[in-house]
Amino acid sequence: SEQQIIDLTALLNRYAHEYYDLDAPTVPDAEYDRLFRQLQAWEEQYPQWRQPDSPSRRVGGQAQQKFTAVVHQIPMLSLNNAFSPLDDNNKFDHSEMYAFDKRVRDGLGAEPDYIVEPKFDGLAISLLYRDGLLIQASTRGDGYTGEDVTENVRTIINIPLRLQGNDVPSVLEVRGEVLMLKADFERLNAHQQAENLKTFANPRNAAAGSLRQLDPKITAQRRLHFYAYGVAQLDERFAVASHSEELALMARLGLTIPPQDTLCYHANIEKILAFYEHIYQVRADLSFGIDGVVIKVDNLEQQNKLGYVARAPRFAIAQKFPAEEMLTTVEAIDVQV
Ligand code: NAD
Repeated sequence: SEQQIIDLTALLNRYAHEYYDLDAPTVPDAEYDRLFRQLQAWEEQYPQWRQPDSPSRRVGGQAQQKFTAVVHQIPMLSLNNAFSPLDDNNKFDHSEMYAFDKRVRDGLGAEPDYIVEPKFDGLAISLLYRDGLLIQASTRGDGYTGEDVTENVRTIINIPLRLQGNDVPSVLEVRGEVLMLKADFERLNAHQQAENLKTFANPRNAAAGSLRQLDPKITAQRRLHFYAYGVAQLDERFAVASHSEELALMARLGLTIPPQDTLCYHANIEKILAFYEHIYQVRADLSFGIDGVVIKVDNLEQQNKLGYVARAPRFAIAQKFPAEEMLTTVEAIDVQV
């Protein structure tokens, strides 16, 4: 009924506020994702009841007043999700991924070349370089307006304050993820515990809380890490034709891109699925937390052709790990709070 849609919208908005604005989620991500998909299904069936403040139309949370607002010239959007649940025989059901692949082929009328990256479990950041110098860093916020966290980001050791090399672009806007490495998270929580301070539920919350500090000295102590996975603005002289070339360019300019053994180039759907299953097996050995992989059409012209729908691109998808994995993380959270 309409009332159910109104209630679910309100509930999801409350969870999103706790997660994005307060950095203090009260439900597991898997539960949030399940309810979100329920709402999407209802809205598709009864579009006339979709609420104007539905989370299915929006990205993230709200920029906090305590930081200066930054308007993103290119919006920082979200990603649509695909789930590959495990069946009774412990085999993945990849039907949502096959459906994504079909939509992409139908949209392009051509065979796409995909690239697969880890889906970092941190928070999205935009870095603006002018004439090689880092001049601004901002959070995603609601996708259109974020928070100015430049001073805090300057303390992150693997973010270059000056791009590397003699010939650098006059404008480069990098998109990527700020996160806390698992080892740094363990160390931080041990320290917090020893000092009788509040411990953090998981590395993502620790990273978000550490970045959104008014005092950059605190951010500096927390040891954050950055991985670049996108280019939002680039001067024409450096223009490239594909996402993988963007990654190579960023690496050449001194930015840290996803480790090579977590990337899969020139993939078709079968290669994507095999890579997903491989990453799923080795995820615990990675030095950073991931909650799945991100699949992107590599060719930029094809990306433009597919474009965007509502809050996410059509040329990419996040293939997330099955829910029971998230629940194990949440059991750990429950013990700590
Ligand atoms: P998302 O996290 O599913 O996808 C978008 C984000 O993925 C981007 O903003 C970027 O930060 C990140 N990302 C990581 N690796 C990337 C890569 N290689 N390329 C591109 N982007 C990459 O979407 P969302 O809208 O940020 O948030 C939804 C997530 O937040 C879900 O996992 C949801 O469960 C969780 N959430 C939880 C609660 C809760 O109460 N527990 C509330 C709201 C949201």
